[in-house]
Amino acid sequence: MLELKSLTKTYKTGDKALNDVSLTVPEGQVVGLIGPSGAGKSTLIRCINRLVEPTSGSVSISGRSITGQGQRELRAMRRRIGMIFQEYALVERLTVMENVLSGRLGYVGFWTSFTRRYGADDIGLAYRLLDRVGLMHQADKRADALSGGQRQRVGIARALAQEPELLLVDEPTASLDPKTSRQIMRLLIEICAERNLPAIVNIHDVPLAQQFMQRIIGLRAGEIVFDGPADALGETVLTEIYGAEDWNAMRKGAEEDESAEAEQAAELARLGA
Ligand code: ADP
Repeated sequence: MLELKSLTKTYKTGDKALNDVSLTVPEGQVVGLIGPSGAGKSTLIRCINRLVEPTSGSVSISGRSITGQGQRELRAMRRRIGMIFQEYALVERLTVMENVLSGRLGYVGFWTSFTRRYGADDIGLAYRLLDRVGLMHQADKRADALSGGQRQRVGIARALAQEPELLLVDEPTASLDPKTSRQIMRLLIEICAERNLPAIVNIHDVPLAQQFMQRIIGLRAGEIVFDGPADALGETVLTEIYGAEDWNAMRKGAEEDESAEAEQAAELARLGA
């Protein structure tokens, strides 16, 4: 379980990015974090693993506080937090397998990480994870030879190789087409359910969040303005979170994506593909 209590962040510039944010995410629950640019979504995610130091308030994971820990304990706790990024953050010239194994780096000794000679247990784990994300047969390919969707699957397998207690996911589908985005989102949701993992997903695509997330939290100007199930997230609340103009533009964009996809499918059907 992840627990934030009265989390506040004021940057040195005086920007108050988070104001008294409290929330709990139980095991196995995936929360979609939505809100306009500048609402504080990235700050919230980064305060959880203390890449950004909160000004006040506390964060605890599985009952252990991460705020107030020294560097050594912080490092040990960060191992248990899997991060998945928009731009995948893979090492391009390494293979898929090596990228997944790099999720073990926090656990292995200096010599293993230096020589990259992992033990049989780590390799076995990496194969099982590659199988789970559908990349068993790509293990020896270089990361730069993969499609966007495959790269994000590697990113997911690498985060799972850390054997995390929590997943923090930052715009996982921002670089993907609509169909691949849905596949990746479905995979994330399934994996969290299978492993009873709590997750927070920073997601800019509201229709996608509504389709997949059990719970959505809306941030505006550093404060939670909505916290509830996707079907309670109506037009009024969305307009409150984003403002009328931005919300209408976003909705129109989603409709265009869908009709382009339908047209493409019809074209393929005509060609007998
Ligand atoms: P979001 O991810 O929702 O776009 P951010 O967390 O990036 O929002 O930003 C929230 C607020 O904090 C914004 O006003 C932004 O300008 C400010 N901010 C973010 N990072 C920094 C920083 N490193 N230094 C100063 N202000 C920052």
